Amino acid sequence: MSPTLALIVQREAEIDAFKPVPFYSVALDLPGFTAASARMDKKADAEQLKTACQGGTVTVKQVERRDKSEKPPALYDLTTLQRDANRLLGFTAQQTLDYLQNLYEKKLCTYPRTDSRYLTSDMAEGLPVLVNLVANAMLFRKGIAISCDAAAVINDKKVTDHHAVIPTRNIREADLSALPVGERTILELVALRLLCAVAPPYIYDETSVTVDCTGAEFTAKGRTVKQPGWRALDAAYRASMKSAPEQDGNSEDKALPKLAEGQELPVTGAAVKEGKTTPPKHFTEDTLLSAMETAGKDDMPEDAERKGLGTPATRAGILEKLVSSGFLERKKSKKTVQLLPSHDAISLITVLPEQLQSPLLTAEWEYRLGEIERGELTPEDFMAEITAMLKELVGTYQVIKGSEYLFAPPREVVGKCPRCGGEIAEMQKGFFCQDKSCNFAIWKNNNWWAAKRKQPTKAIVAALLKDGRAHVAGLYSEKSGKTYDATVVLEDTGQYVNFKLEFDRQKGGGK
Ligand SMILES: [Zn+2]
Repeated sequence: MSPTLALIVQREAEIDAFKPVPFYSVALDLPGFTAASARMDKKADAEQLKTACQGGTVTVKQVERRDKSEKPPALYDLTTLQRDANRLLGFTAQQTLDYLQNLYEKKLCTYPRTDSRYLTSDMAEGLPVLVNLVANAMLFRKGIAISCDAAAVINDKKVTDHHAVIPTRNIREADLSALPVGERTILELVALRLLCAVAPPYIYDETSVTVDCTGAEFTAKGRTVKQPGWRALDAAYRASMKSAPEQDGNSEDKALPKLAEGQELPVTGAAVKEGKTTPPKHFTEDTLLSAMETAGKDDMPEDAERKGLGTPATRAGILEKLVSSGFLERKKSKKTVQLLPSHDAISLITVLPEQLQSPLLTAEWEYRLGEIERGELTPEDFMAEITAMLKELVGTYQVIKGSEYLFAPPREVVGKCPRCGGEIAEMQKGFFCQDKSCNFAIWKNNNWWAAKRKQPTKAIVAALLKDGRAHVAGLYSEKSGKTYDATVVLEDTGQYVNFKLEFDRQKGGGK
């Protein structure tokens, strides 16, 4: 949990420290396409280039055409499914695990807590039938031919205890519309991934063009799709979603016109484009799960038992625990939910020994646990190591000055103390004078208030401190069983804080 928290706190620090730098480029409108200059730091340079090119001509210097092929993505293991479900559907890692667990129990999906993205060779024979059943159950694939390249998803060496998550043949009889919506959308995502993983590659031509205008270089890229392959399914699925997030990356999918080297083209327009460098992004569950998976990867030995933080089965739990213990907060921003550290999280990471924030320690412990599993290390020896480490940490680290302020809960001052003039602040159990030698207190579970089934609120206490009285609505009468409104008057004896009721005679508000 602490290395995970450290990742998030470090990211927020990077974002806070980031200063955007403006940059400029010139875009030329040419027949059928647009070409852009390199980035420039100064706006004046860009303006000058724009003016020089306007109304002129460009010469095509280089045309490069490359055949490109994009293999379909591998099947889902739990973490990659959780990431996609977060990015595409906004589900938390825990929600995805719960939905998938239900689908498993209903025998519609295979075992959820897996870290393999492949199937075993004994599954090859039945795969075409399964793929067809799945395709028929999915409405979004209508009109798209389905193929099954089993070799793309089979790898015995990459399956340990469980294979990748896929739908089962029961999908044929299942009434998908009767499933809870969360389970149905997860099943659709798992189905989409199976259909994509066995589909042909996406094949396209990528053209890059360099043109020259008054000695400056401008470039443009374009692509011509030759075989949509698995991307056709992906696009059809996204089109079927109510609010499809933007497709990642491929903005340069427009085709360029036919061009030849040496060809001259008229400049029909020129413009200066202004941009800004952008800060790193706040973590979402999608990007955090990925960061946890690869944390410390570069520093770890090749044969490390487990790389990264946690396992596919435990990562969702780690996130939920950090949220429920108040270290992480979910904050909705546009279509995504960001994970932000709380005040306590930042304080904790500030004072926590470096060693406890490193993913290497977790990896080391996992390695030791593996040794215990194989009988190469006794649990007692492991615990002795932990004890020694803790003793050393406690002995080495001084109490950090000011840490009591780092962890002090935020206190809101609600008014002045009638006894000493000090500040009265709201705390968990009541409103207390912040002067330690003064005992003035208004407890939230005060008997007088409890009998009236009310708790003194911040607003009530603020009025009592300011005016000595507060109008309170909805007080309960034990005698009549009804509620009434009255003015509560504060009477401080210097030792006890008492309350008294006053009724507004003019309005005749009685009990
Ligand atoms: Zn006081």
